[in-house]
Amino acid sequence: MRVLVTGGAGFIGSHLCERLVREGHDVLCLDNFFTGNKRNILPLLGNPRFELIRHDITEPILLEVDRIYNLACPASPIHYQYNPVKTIKTSVMGTINMLGLAKRVRARILQASTSEVYGDPHVHPQTEEYWGNVNPIGIRSCYDEGKRVAETLMMDYHRQNGVDIRIIRIFNTYGPRMAENDGRVVSNFIVQALRGEDLTVYGEGNQTRSFCYVDDLVEGMIRMMECDGFVGPVNLGNPSETTILEFARTILELTGSKSTIIFKPLPADDPKQRRPDISLAREKLGWSPRVDVTTGLQRSIEYFAEVVGSS
Ligand code: NAD
Ligand code: UDP
Repeated sequence: MRVLVTGGAGFIGSHLCERLVREGHDVLCLDNFFTGNKRNILPLLGNPRFELIRHDITEPILLEVDRIYNLACPASPIHYQYNPVKTIKTSVMGTINMLGLAKRVRARILQASTSEVYGDPHVHPQTEEYWGNVNPIGIRSCYDEGKRVAETLMMDYHRQNGVDIRIIRIFNTYGPRMAENDGRVVSNFIVQALRGEDLTVYGEGNQTRSFCYVDDLVEGMIRMMECDGFVGPVNLGNPSETTILEFARTILELTGSKSTIIFKPLPADDPKQRRPDISLAREKLGWSPRVDVTTGLQRSIEYFAEVVGSS
């Protein structure tokens, strides 16, 4: 198949492109390189099955494809808050453009949505039926509300125009090729530990997150794309939940670092708890994460050790 991956030069997108090329598909990787990087797709650049297109999805594009994975959107708070108007344009205008393309060429399209559609959740763990608790005017809303509108657009193109859609809600995902400077907790803590700097825990560190290794996520994405008769939304994430303070201690232990933990102010609207209920993914896709957190973190630490060593 000819598969378009928007945001293909980013963290998750580059792993997805690699996997799709390995499976024998022709992959078109589209990216504006805002948070993505050519380094992420370097091993694919000479491959005849792989094509790179520098393009911004807020502008329309004409292509002939069978599948569209729509991942283009900055994902870390410091990146999506850098130009919030652009972030929401990417989710709204970008998704309209990709849906228009899917409609024209009758491609199946999968939208990378997020656990952020649940906001600061009152239901725990989060199930797909929960409508969420999102502040519409806060500093996270350019991302959260953008992704919520993208889901609405997907459902409306599906109901109104019969577009073949899939929606996944991705929970915190980590692994090699996360940008070392993107401010997310996994990259921050590992890089700080490797450099011997203080680990910056925001608030008291009793907020929780559940971290999923990128290979598990990519497996779930592909299963959802190729699953018949189920459009989602479906949660994809690892239900093993940890407080951020515990997580900082785990990183210190795994890196053997002598760094200390310091506390910084909690950013506005930071969700207090987050854990996916993945019963639906298990039932419909036969999917659950395979990589335990220690193994996933060890692989990530190896990656960041190289990055830190060469910077
Ligand atoms: P990332 O920032 O590494 O990747 C996003 C990619 O999209 C980058 O390569 C960037 O250059 C590109 N991009 C951004 N705006 C664009 C535009 N207007 N046109 C074309 N390309 C554009 O982030 P990631 O972690 O790989 O996230 C990928 C997708 O998964 C995003 O849609 C994100 O919202 C979603 N997601 C990620 C997580 C996570 O934990 N990593 C969680 C939930 C959802
Ligand atoms: N966090 C932290 N220290 C950091 C970076 C993040 O304590 O250096 C916290 C952050 O406040 C949040 C959690 O870790 O509670 C996860 O943050 P991240 O930005 O990785 O993801 P998100 O908040 O989008 O889930």
